[in-house]
Amino acid sequence: MSEQPPIYLDSHATTPVDSRVFEVMKPYFTEKFGNASSLDHPYGYDASVTVQLARESIAKAIGANTDEIIFTSGATESDNLALLGVMEKNKEKGNHLITCVTEHKAILDTAKHLESLGYDVTYLPVDEFGLIDLEELKSAITEKTILISIMFANNEIGTIQNVSQIGAIAHEHNVLFHTDAAQAVGHIPIDVKKMNIDLMSFSSHKIYGPKGIGALYLRSLMPRVKLNSIVYGGGQERNIRSGTLNVPGIVGFSKAVEIAVSEMNDENKKYKKWTDLMLEKFAAVGGKLNGHPENRLVHNLNIRFDGIEGKAIINSVSKKLAISAGSACTTQNVEPSHVLLALGLSEEQSHYAIRIGCGRFNTDDDIKVATGEIVNSIESLSKIR
Ligand SMILES: *Cc1c(COP(=O)(O)O)cnc(C)c1O
Repeated sequence: MSEQPPIYLDSHATTPVDSRVFEVMKPYFTEKFGNASSLDHPYGYDASVTVQLARESIAKAIGANTDEIIFTSGATESDNLALLGVMEKNKEKGNHLITCVTEHKAILDTAKHLESLGYDVTYLPVDEFGLIDLEELKSAITEKTILISIMFANNEIGTIQNVSQIGAIAHEHNVLFHTDAAQAVGHIPIDVKKMNIDLMSFSSHKIYGPKGIGALYLRSLMPRVKLNSIVYGGGQERNIRSGTLNVPGIVGFSKAVEIAVSEMNDENKKYKKWTDLMLEKFAAVGGKLNGHPENRLVHNLNIRFDGIEGKAIINSVSKKLAISAGSACTTQNVEPSHVLLALGLSEEQSHYAIRIGCGRFNTDDDIKVATGEIVNSIESLSKIR
């Protein structure tokens, strides 16, 4: 009998392409291969129409207007474009950026780069659940503040920030608000206008679309966001992001968003049932939740078993389960997670964490097997301790 691949429970790192998404992408690799900027013939013209329809559909899903979507290679590039582009465009007005300590590296490393260029960056702390304090945010704003960038939902612990209120505070002070919503789009309802969002990064491969395509939402009215580009060339995407458009990627991205938004309610009910069940079983063997008990992505479970290394658990279940110790970007090194440290955990405690990310293609049985495997692993690891 051939060995079964491990059950995939790392949906924050990436997701498989949904077959419904793959189907609509296929023709755009072969017969419909036109360059969306080549408007002199039907190949290019058709590609251009297709891209516009995808743009419209993605915009609608987040409450934006069609012309407010800029396609990029993913959330990393969107984060870079938002921070570098807005800060550089406004450098005569001010040089201050506010973000927070639990952001993805795409934000933190871009902020560090801005510091090296002479910009001022405030990194707000978070409470034990991963939330920033809104009063602290208000007092951090100065005459020089240009942009506030706070992530929508955290990729390690799933904590969902009070985005609408953060945006309202930004606007009261005439400051722009950007949010990295790579983990939120397709998982929680988003309306960028109602939520006071001026710029928003998101990505296709976190929601069952292809890798290498994402978008930046850029508000065009009240206020109109202006920013410098960071990629120069053919002037695509209103001169904001040059480069031949990834037409198959865009088609897949748009289908992925459509499916995620229309199936969100049912999926979330299923995920909540699963993560509640797992939490209950894990708590019975000493598991403690990392993150917020309620304001959390329901498919996420970040949990620690004090005294037992997360790596040891992962190794002992690795034939059956694909789970991770933290974020995909940090599992290569033994550095403690900056997110867990920010919650106030010690370095030692941070190594006790595992992260489970349920996904669309998991089944009740997967969850039962995973729960059993992890509970067994905890029981045997605590014996040899
Ligand atoms: C995955 C992720 C990113 C990076 O997105 P890519 O599309 O892979 O570049 C950025 N921020 C958050 C919160 C993420 O989860």
